[in-house]
Amino acid sequence: MTAENAAPQRETHAFQAEVQQVLRLVIHSLYSNKDIFLRELVSNASDACDKLRFEALKDETLYAGQPELAIDIGFDKEARTLSVADSGIGMSREELIDNLGTIARSGTKRFLESLAEGQRADANLIGQFGVGFYSAFIVADRVEVTSRRAGSDQAWTWISSGEGEYSLAPAPADTPRGTRIVLHLREGEEGYLEDWKLRGLVRTYSDHIAFPVRLPTPAKEGEEAGAPEAVNQASALWNRPKSELSDDEYKAFYKHVAHDYAEPLAWTHNRVEGNQNFTSLLYLPAKAPFDFQFNRDERKGLKLYIKRVFIMDASEQMLPAYLRFVRGVVDSDDLPLNVSRELLQNNRQVERIKGALAKRVLDLLDRLSRDEAEKYLGFWKEFGQLLKEGVAEDPSNQERILKLLRFPSTRSARPDELVALDDYVARMAAGQEAIYYLTADGWNAARNSPQLEALKARGVEVLLMHERIDEWMAGYLHEYAGKRLRNVAKGEIDLDALGGAEDKAKREEAAKAAEGTLARIKTLLGDAVREVRVSARLTESAACLVLDEHDMALHMQRLLRAAGQDLPGSAPVLEINPQHALVQRLEAEADDAKAGDLAHLLLEQAQLAEGGALEDPAAFIARVNRLIAG
Ligand code: ADP
Repeated sequence: MTAENAAPQRETHAFQAEVQQVLRLVIHSLYSNKDIFLRELVSNASDACDKLRFEALKDETLYAGQPELAIDIGFDKEARTLSVADSGIGMSREELIDNLGTIARSGTKRFLESLAEGQRADANLIGQFGVGFYSAFIVADRVEVTSRRAGSDQAWTWISSGEGEYSLAPAPADTPRGTRIVLHLREGEEGYLEDWKLRGLVRTYSDHIAFPVRLPTPAKEGEEAGAPEAVNQASALWNRPKSELSDDEYKAFYKHVAHDYAEPLAWTHNRVEGNQNFTSLLYLPAKAPFDFQFNRDERKGLKLYIKRVFIMDASEQMLPAYLRFVRGVVDSDDLPLNVSRELLQNNRQVERIKGALAKRVLDLLDRLSRDEAEKYLGFWKEFGQLLKEGVAEDPSNQERILKLLRFPSTRSARPDELVALDDYVARMAAGQEAIYYLTADGWNAARNSPQLEALKARGVEVLLMHERIDEWMAGYLHEYAGKRLRNVAKGEIDLDALGGAEDKAKREEAAKAAEGTLARIKTLLGDAVREVRVSARLTESAACLVLDEHDMALHMQRLLRAAGQDLPGSAPVLEINPQHALVQRLEAEADDAKAGDLAHLLLEQAQLAEGGALEDPAAFIARVNRLIAG
């Protein structure tokens, strides 16, 4: 050994605790599906070749006289080893440590804890960690990774038996560029040393890989095995005509691009020709990743290719944020190969592709919702929240997005009985002109809101928007299919067209008769309310709170105040039901102190029904007790 490379000797490192857990999980949950380890290693090798080709666009010397990018699978029956080698980008010492010894994804720890508690222990979730590499340990009890990064003259060997630690040691200087992974197979896994078996696996799982995946030509009787030969198609799958591609090929490709073990829900594959030429293959995942959390910063999954060369993950640049669940590839013929992230950001061509991709996704969702409603509901459950963001974010597609939304309504027994706006419109009551909805802080507050009483009594359906994002989204809702969207808790509600004129006459009469009471309640409550009036909304409850059309919903106001925002205090309108016993008792009450108790009770009931908390709960209890005591 020369003095130069004698210095760093074999050293041992411990795996990050999470790695150990993930490893165990992978080995246990994928045991019945062992074959996938080969797909994962080939997939990583292909990514490594993509990365080298991209980096070499700027620096051709990285090829260092070895321009061929390929993946070689080899096996040695005597040594019981299987190897996967690529001539891709390779890994430096630090990269070996970071990539194969730690799991950097945020939320991993929390997710593992939830699995430990027995929730969602689903093998399909495992793939979300990017645990591709660790699947090697399903079939191997010792894994050796030797890698030399392109442009570096130092190579390293990483060795582990998958139990707590790994070792690192320098590898010979003549190690070829790229990564070579050697699996020492466990007892009973000799099947993976058979040429026919390996060929079958490559054709089934890795046919779509754009680089040659090679195996040695089989040895003839008494001869050595021959030169490597490609076993896969080795062409970019998205460039092949749709008619030639089977569902299985599309699904296998999805697993590669999306790093997902589960099958996709649906996909759309298109070639656009004209003043922009590009091909896109876009997938809808079946499940949201565990750390997805609707985090707008975590945006990955759409790979940008330019003229078949992988450039970068460009989900952020090529898709609107609300479509960040989409996975796949887009391959442009027109963008310059030396394009940078910054350039993508302010580029008219990119904007046009982005617009076209959004339309493709919305078309796909529309088709799914019509032809495979069940599947669509599955999608909605996972990603519906994101489409709601789209209502605000993408005004040019708003009508198409609204068509895709689903809500429970006053006709739903459970929050997951959903209705589309089109269904709602189709069954609107005679004379009904607007689409009615209510926003509330939770399903029960929505469902039991007094605001709904008169509408329910007239058989008018109301959409119940009970999720947090709904109130914000509702700010952008104006019209659908030529019908106004109206929040039933805001402004005056005119039900006369729905209920017949006699109601109106009755109400006006009641309002007249109640004039004195209304004024008295207003005096008793002072500035706590803006106005007191007779309600057209109530049939059973005594009172409810109503906002102006442009006021922010009360639960939203509370949320923002709790978050420390200083909102101008706009008092709500108190609507009362003159038929209610409590109101009638107040009318008959001569004693102002007692009437004051009753008036405050009306207000507090309305606040509680709407899901609010009382400012002074003790005073409320005292009032109730005084009332009960008579
Ligand atoms: P994932 O591929 O989902 O990120 P893996 O555990 O399979 O997760 O790999 C972790 C990382 O290790 C990869 O992101 C990549 O940076 C690196 N890696 C794995 N295999 C190779 C390889 N053959 N060549 C270069 N880098 C690799």
